[in-house]
Amino acid sequence: MSLAPYACHPAQSRGRRFGEVDAPTRTAFQRDRDRIVHSTAFRRLVYKTQVFLNHEGDLFRTRLTHSLEVAQLGRSIARSLHLNEDLVETIALAHDLGHTPFGHAGQDALNACMAAYGGFEHNLQSLRVVDHLEERYPDFDGLNLTFETREGILKHCSRANAILLEADEPLCADGLGGVGQRFLQRTQPSLEAQLCNLADEIAYNAHDIDDGVRSGLISLEQLQDVPLFEGYYRQALAAHAQLAQPANARRLLYESIRLMLSEQVYDVIAATQAALAEARPGSVAQARALPVLVVFSRGMRERSQALKAFLLRELYRHPQVMENMALAQQVVRELFAAYSEAPQEMQTGSAARVAAGTPVPPPQTTPATMRTIADYIAGMTDRFAAREHERLTGRRLLP
Ligand code: MG
Repeated sequence: MSLAPYACHPAQSRGRRFGEVDAPTRTAFQRDRDRIVHSTAFRRLVYKTQVFLNHEGDLFRTRLTHSLEVAQLGRSIARSLHLNEDLVETIALAHDLGHTPFGHAGQDALNACMAAYGGFEHNLQSLRVVDHLEERYPDFDGLNLTFETREGILKHCSRANAILLEADEPLCADGLGGVGQRFLQRTQPSLEAQLCNLADEIAYNAHDIDDGVRSGLISLEQLQDVPLFEGYYRQALAAHAQLAQPANARRLLYESIRLMLSEQVYDVIAATQAALAEARPGSVAQARALPVLVVFSRGMRERSQALKAFLLRELYRHPQVMENMALAQQVVRELFAAYSEAPQEMQTGSAARVAAGTPVPPPQTTPATMRTIADYIAGMTDRFAAREHERLTGRRLLP
């Protein structure tokens, strides 16, 4: 892989939180990716909701298949831009590790439960998973990933949380600060991280159309009012007359989505090349100091926004989705209440952490206990959360 001067090079990585000897056959970013693939949190993604609850059907995207699609799109664009493919893949595979069960509904419920204890945010939680919660190594908590991977995972961060993160950064010998620093200085992350943000958007826009139509909640007819989709739909029909037959409806959908994905990928490559040619960053450090450079063209940005607005209105807020999500939120709230009253109901590690940190008898509503409960609930798969809720309350809310 030939890397541009503004691409992250593994040999110039700012390093890991705890010093380790380099691997003989893998670069630092390849090693990060392998650690993520072998992590417990990564395996759980297969049973976590993207939009549709995991029990609603076997063919809908889950957090795992979504992450794989982001990695594929990201790698493909990275190759054309001479960015570091391995780093892009690594960030993509890790970017959703902190998601709660039941998608954004689960996160909103957990955030409300944690309001008095610092809140809950899935993006920050993804970093917490790789920095603290995975228990796989003898000498440290977490996966001890490189700065560049961790920086890419932390997409958003409030100022208050950035200050807390910086206080917790063990190794900043280079004086540049940790992953929270850029939110205090208002600079950008690496171009690889910027690319993952856009690959995420391209991936979910496309697969949510597919899943939405598959579920019957949105129709091909409705989609013809969405400019980003409609043009490719007409293009697909014009190029393949047989796609007009009702029996080929799924092939027509796939062909339209395929054209849409390709065009968005080409658009990002062209718009980013233009931005790079104008800004001419000569290094990773210069790229970080510039405005966001991995971008859609203005027209594609507008069409993507319009599609997102359509999906929000017609799919994510569809009464049937909302009904399930309301039940999912009730599950999260009641789990949180149950563990707050009886932290010993959490299994093994989490209950032990509460016991070790707080010598007073339960219920112990210290912020540390509440954070442990939030970590425990956030780590659950959809079905584990539903079963655990039934065990603790005697009521089954979700199939
Ligand atoms: Mg995502």
